[in-house]
Amino acid sequence: MERWTSDTVLAGQRSDWHKAITTHLHPIEQWSKPLQSIATKLTNQQPLDIDDGILLLEHHDLHEIGQMAHAVREARFGNMAFFNANVHVNQTNICVLACRFCAFRRGPKAKDAYALSVQDYVDDLGTYADYVDEVHSVGGLHPDWTIEHYEAMFSQTRAAYPHISIKALTAVEVKHLAQQSSISTKTVLRRLKDSGLTSLPGGGAEILDDDVRAIICNGKESSDEYLQIHEEAHDVGLPSNCTMLFGTIESNLQRIQHMISLRELQSKTGGFQCFVPYPFLPDSSRLPEAQLSTGSEILRTIAVSRLMLDNIPHIKAYRMNIGDHVAELALQFGADDIDGTVQKESIMHLAGSTAPLDHDRNKLARLIQDAGCTPILRNTTYTSFETFKMIAVPTRKSLPMAR
Ligand code: SF4
Repeated sequence: MERWTSDTVLAGQRSDWHKAITTHLHPIEQWSKPLQSIATKLTNQQPLDIDDGILLLEHHDLHEIGQMAHAVREARFGNMAFFNANVHVNQTNICVLACRFCAFRRGPKAKDAYALSVQDYVDDLGTYADYVDEVHSVGGLHPDWTIEHYEAMFSQTRAAYPHISIKALTAVEVKHLAQQSSISTKTVLRRLKDSGLTSLPGGGAEILDDDVRAIICNGKESSDEYLQIHEEAHDVGLPSNCTMLFGTIESNLQRIQHMISLRELQSKTGGFQCFVPYPFLPDSSRLPEAQLSTGSEILRTIAVSRLMLDNIPHIKAYRMNIGDHVAELALQFGADDIDGTVQKESIMHLAGSTAPLDHDRNKLARLIQDAGCTPILRNTTYTSFETFKMIAVPTRKSLPMAR
């Protein structure tokens, strides 16, 4: 079993990936006329602009966009595809906000409202601790919890399970804690890092456009606040992911501007490790005017993000949201990561996700292999990797997906 390490900025990419893009995209004439200038920019290491992004979103040939994104992803990672062994523990569904797309939040008096005590959280995690090395925890904005609650939660978790990394809290949760405790968001991040927090997930970016946010998630942090909190996280040494929720009411232009805002911050800090684009899941939540996303639109958005975000190492096909089948296809459309084993999860499942929660490492590795890739088990911060050795299973014939 091969093992290797990387730093948080390179995050497992080959060090000469810029050069390799040229090899993978040449000859430029293989691409249709509208895409040739994009291929040229990519080989010259020029970031794509808004017009390029719109062109990619509207180009008639989805397969060609996917092929180009896959070529760029192969230049960075070859045919490796990453996953990890994780569990999602959502600490509370009680939330003082009521974002219109959210099927998870409850008011404090709802019958199924819950808030895990620190001990319950630690005990809950204990069920999975032997099988995972990451806990992913996001939740509602609890009206009573202050930073001390989270400091206790993280420090007790680290004491009980030193091998488990804690990837927790979205930007709006950080903002809420700052308000609850009358301290700055940067102090929140510093104190939580000292208590054992490893990194931040990217949730809550939705679309970084305040007009859209006013309709779909009124009261949440503004676009600038989302970016500021992630900048502060990077500044105190917490790497983070970034996300995009698409298929609500945003335009193509707003999607591309969203990606460019993230790219601009990344050029300052280098602290984003992974971009996670995921579609709005409409079941049992409220947003009847949402335009929703088809399977081909999900694949296209993943591919376009790989091409637009030249300075963010990883693109995730978030299987909890898009399901295993689309995630498998996405590994040939620019994505290189499918998240993890995720033994337990509430937010996407309450919104209608049917992605299985009982995946062991071997099942996930099998999914990756079926997509024509080599499964690589990674840690939370993309700094430690190992080629996953599959357990032999009775032969099942897989039809080929990629050369
Ligand atoms: S998305 Fe987050 S902040 Fe918004 S209502 Fe749901 S739990 Fe609360």
